[in-house]
Amino acid sequence: MGKTGVKGLSLARRLYTSRMLGLVLGLLCVSVAMYPLNPAPWVWALMLFNGLIWPHLAYQWARRAKAPYHAEHRNLLVDAFLGGFWVAAMQFNPLPSATTISMMAMNNVAIGGLRFLLAGSVTQILGIGIGWLIFKPLFIPETSQLQLYACLPLMCFYPLALGWLCFRQAHTLGRQKSELLALSRTDSLTGLLNHGAWKDQLEVEFQRCQRQHQGGAIALIDIDHFKNINDTYGHVAGDIVLRQLSKMLKQNLRATDVAGRYGGDEFCVILPDLPLNNAAAVMEALRDRFATLGYEQNPALKVSLSIGLAAFNPGHSDATLWLSDADRALYEAKTTGRNRVICCGDGRSQYELLDSV
Ligand code: GH3
Ligand code: MG
Repeated sequence: MGKTGVKGLSLARRLYTSRMLGLVLGLLCVSVAMYPLNPAPWVWALMLFNGLIWPHLAYQWARRAKAPYHAEHRNLLVDAFLGGFWVAAMQFNPLPSATTISMMAMNNVAIGGLRFLLAGSVTQILGIGIGWLIFKPLFIPETSQLQLYACLPLMCFYPLALGWLCFRQAHTLGRQKSELLALSRTDSLTGLLNHGAWKDQLEVEFQRCQRQHQGGAIALIDIDHFKNINDTYGHVAGDIVLRQLSKMLKQNLRATDVAGRYGGDEFCVILPDLPLNNAAAVMEALRDRFATLGYEQNPALKVSLSIGLAAFNPGHSDATLWLSDADRALYEAKTTGRNRVICCGDGRSQYELLDSV
């Protein structure tokens, strides 16, 4: 079933509950208004059908339809038509008529916006016209006390139920929105932040460092000769190595450090409030542990990391310059033999830099 089909089925399920409640309360309201008019047996039968059987029939009809959304649209038009029909049959008794029309308008606008409201209203007018032709109604401008009481359950409980359904819908949508947002910021293979989300965090960290005169470091980590690993052991094995590195990052970094997958076999880390020499020690330990892990799993598998580190530089005007520093350090690590950690610049920590300002 396509996306529209699933959407239609969920609409049909929601409408089933609200239609059952609305029409059974509507039956009370209409039958008390009709009673003094001595309706024919077929009118009673139609009233009972509409109030008690139609909601179930409409649901089954929509559920089995090839396009449940369109089937529900048609069911709503049937609702509107019958609503208009009962307004004429009740000889326009003011309170039950206004209640019927307003509840249906509320239903249509809540479900399909102005388009459904308009389509429903036109169909309702058609229902009134057919009812008019059949019943040739007089206009009864009075509602008895009993008829007023019979309208109250529909007036009180139906908006409550519809409001609750709309709230639940909005709540589900809100939850799905946050789930989608989290998904759009996550790298699917490793579960780390993806490129875009990590760069957003880098921007935040850069501004925080500027504002609070704090230091910090960033690291770009690249697996050495990763293409060879793919070519020799296959892409599945390559994926496992990528996942292992990301797991190691999650396990070995502080809760405040922010790790991401920059792309391909390149990872990136923000290490807030950490002097460059301490950050270098952390990355050195990671490089060492990663090489050992690869060897433990398969002695023939040689894995190593090249890492470029850069401290926050208060002289930089934006975060991309900070990233370029780390990129240059990574390039140096690659060109000077790989399997090493290189710090950008003179290697002095940020605190030392700040002290010297
Ligand atoms: P270097 O030491 O210079 O970094 O060499 P390298 O082979 O690691 O670098 P290169 O950029 O040439 O190769 C990276 C490879 O990573 C190429 C690409 O096929 C592979 N790759 C990128 N994304 C994935 C992935 O999600 N899974 C796997 N298995 N491989 C990937
Ligand atoms: Mg590489």
